Amino acid sequence: MIQLKCDIVVVGGGASGMAAAASASESGASVIVLEKNASVGGNGLFPRGIFAVGSFLQKRKLVNTDKDEVFSACMEYSHWKIDPDLVRTLIEKSGDTIDWLHDMGVDFTDVVHHLPGQNPEVFHITEKDLNVGKTVIKILHDYCKDKNVEIQTGCTGSSLILSPDGIVAGVLAKNRDGEDVQVEASRVILCTGGFAGNQDMISKFYPKYKPDEVTPGPGMRHNGEGLKMAVEAGAAIEGNFAMEMAAPKIRGYAPLNLLLGKPWNVWINRKGKRFANEGIVYNFSLAANACLRQPKAQMWVVFDERIKNFTLEEGRDIVELIHFPPDSEQKLDDTILKAIDNGYLIKSDNLEDLAAFIGCPLESLTSSIEEYNKFCDSGRDAKYAKNIKNLKKLNNPPYYAIKAGVDMLITHGGIRVDDNFRALNENLEPVKNLYVAGVDFGGVDADVYNVTMSGHGFGFALNSGRIAGENAVATLKI
Ligand SMILES: Cc1cc2nc3c(=O)[nH]c(=O)nc-3n(C[C@H](O)[C@H](O)[C@H](O)COP(=O)(O)OP(=O)(O)OC[C@H]3O[C@@H](n4cnc5c(N)ncnc54)[C@H](O)[C@@H]3O)c2cc1C
Repeated sequence: MIQLKCDIVVVGGGASGMAAAASASESGASVIVLEKNASVGGNGLFPRGIFAVGSFLQKRKLVNTDKDEVFSACMEYSHWKIDPDLVRTLIEKSGDTIDWLHDMGVDFTDVVHHLPGQNPEVFHITEKDLNVGKTVIKILHDYCKDKNVEIQTGCTGSSLILSPDGIVAGVLAKNRDGEDVQVEASRVILCTGGFAGNQDMISKFYPKYKPDEVTPGPGMRHNGEGLKMAVEAGAAIEGNFAMEMAAPKIRGYAPLNLLLGKPWNVWINRKGKRFANEGIVYNFSLAANACLRQPKAQMWVVFDERIKNFTLEEGRDIVELIHFPPDSEQKLDDTILKAIDNGYLIKSDNLEDLAAFIGCPLESLTSSIEEYNKFCDSGRDAKYAKNIKNLKKLNNPPYYAIKAGVDMLITHGGIRVDDNFRALNENLEPVKNLYVAGVDFGGVDADVYNVTMSGHGFGFALNSGRIAGENAVATLKI
């Protein structure tokens, strides 16, 4: 048994864990991070943008940073099912956290819209070709090293050490050589990144979720050890869980994203029916919800040659510039051929072929498209109220249909916490010495991940970790 001792042990060295370790170490506390992977970062390595209100960048750009407006919009989006004190705390801290990261060396280049007409602009990015996640994690890692934080990689936390009277006193873990590791600590911060890889927990907390209808999206799927450890120590589960999902998605054909994400496409289900205002494509959660309602959660994204040319002439919007690989345009033609060969895409001059490809009755597809074209002629989508500027007739063959579905990224939600990110029990009293951050705590997303708070997955992870670290250390006598 390897025995270690410190003031604060952080379990999980991803977005929230590295922020927690960095902030806790700033006041001179001794900090150990246990990270199960060979290197730190977790899903914090993937984000392209960070939510914040009140950053130096927004002030410089004269962005409207009315925190009350953002707070109210967030609460309304989730119908006040979420915790207003937590949401307020995270919004209030968010601008300062961008400044904190900037002072450490993160070179934020802009703050941009992530949805059309979004106000205020909240999505903080680094240089276009740089991934803000990797940049932030690297800088937090270097900062922690400078502050003598001990980072144990390949070390998986499994349970909390409880004193005879049930008080949290550290963590038990196993290292990559299979040795037991015991970390005695005054405070524990759990940051294990949710439970997207734990099918039992998913069935329990998302009873309506059908894993066979959803593709695992990019990213890491963690096992929910943080939730398990917190519950064993007496913490309560917060009632809301949001699964972060996105549509229309197809794995392994990244350049096709250039064509999939446009509001002037037409979405058809396997009955040959249109089923949504395709303008919701900008909000990937809404698009996923609409797709999940369709048979087998499948959709076909349909357009014609003129629409395809229009899409390519319009070029990328800001979100596509940030998210898609730079060589997508060069690879598009080859990718289309590959998708045709593998049965994910059809290109044909007639709707009979499209109907056969989709597996729907021809009459159904034809009448859906005829109806849609009439809406285009009249300038009003009398069914789903799509914006008139996105109504483009489908009558210029060849036609294309891409088979797409829903990607699942990560879980959001879990342990009930107060606004210092202390774990709470069923009586809403703190579980002594225990903090929870990142997507392991619940209360800021209800049933649908809030894309209108763009970048808040990463933003709230960093902020909750930072606040947990500060509060954990503030309660120590160093
Ligand atoms: C592909 C992708 C793109 C994304 N893009 C964005 C974006 O643009 N903007 C945005 O805001 N959000 C984005 N997100 C979401 C964002 O990455 C997460 O919200 C954030 O990383 C959550 O932070 P976390 O600390 O809770 O989890 P993570 O960052 O995943 O960290 C959890 C860490 O805990 C470790 N761990 C797990 N169990 C144990 C254990 N038992 N013992 C020790 N270590 C353990 C894991 O290995 C991991 O390193 C994206 C996510 C994905 C997957």
